[in-house]
Amino acid sequence: MNNYKVISFYKYVSIEDPEKLANEHLQWCIDNGIKGKVYFAKEGINGAVFGVYDLIEDYKNHLKSYSLFSDIWFKETPTDTIAFTKMRVRVKNEIVNSGLNQTSLEHSAPKLTPEQLLKFYEEKKDFIIVDARNWYESKIGKFKNAITPQITHFREWPKVVESLNEYKDKTIVTYCTGGIRCEKASAYMREQGFKNIFQMNGGILNFIQKYPDTYWEGGMFVFDDRRVFEPNTREELKYTATCHFCGKPTAYHINCHNLDCDKIIVCCHECKVKNEYCCSDKCRASSNKRKAFCG
Ligand SMILES: [Zn+2]
Ligand SMILES: [Zn+2]
Repeated sequence: MNNYKVISFYKYVSIEDPEKLANEHLQWCIDNGIKGKVYFAKEGINGAVFGVYDLIEDYKNHLKSYSLFSDIWFKETPTDTIAFTKMRVRVKNEIVNSGLNQTSLEHSAPKLTPEQLLKFYEEKKDFIIVDARNWYESKIGKFKNAITPQITHFREWPKVVESLNEYKDKTIVTYCTGGIRCEKASAYMREQGFKNIFQMNGGILNFIQKYPDTYWEGGMFVFDDRRVFEPNTREELKYTATCHFCGKPTAYHINCHNLDCDKIIVCCHECKVKNEYCCSDKCRASSNKRKAFCG
């Protein structure tokens, strides 16, 4: 039984005074007990929040009461795991750090619906699908046949695009978790002369809710305390990765608790406990370890 929901959302919209909005927003969230993280910038809003169903409805209504956000799209995932224990609201230069300052959102690629992507696969269309996320995200799960760039930050996207030059005339689909990174990633590609690009509308989240157990393989990396969302029930589609220690298939991962290491490793729950949330004996012996938490 799921008692909670995580909702994620973003909107590129010009905000005159993000500081003021952020302060108001933080206060509302504190007063109402909502947890999560929300970023404001002059270019828009990006966030994910967590709570019981009624609270989430209140939050959605609150955000929509601002005319700037009246049409914002919430992607909702029921969960029985605590996703956030704190509320963080920040003002940033960009709602996703991209470094693509010269890229215009007006050049964003047309959006592909989950139905259309499903059809691409079913009809064996000649297309390239590219993951716009980082290596540790695509390691845990990806679309079938996707190109998974080995980048550690979205700022490296131009390097990825350069490596895709041979596909300039092909049909290309880009995807990310909820769609926000693809707005700029796809715009950048078109500016580099790629002709036939689509971006996955609403990202992986939108697809896997409609079509689990089809063309998404493994789990979906999430940036909250759940760590991973696992949409598939078909055994052969559950995992794309194996535990760093025992080799068992898993979609779970940890950051090594040696703060000087902090490396992300794929790791099953048993090995996590056995190794005290560390990637190696050396890290386990470190004196600079973060406190273990449950989960
Ligand atoms: Zn293991
Ligand atoms: Zn380590």
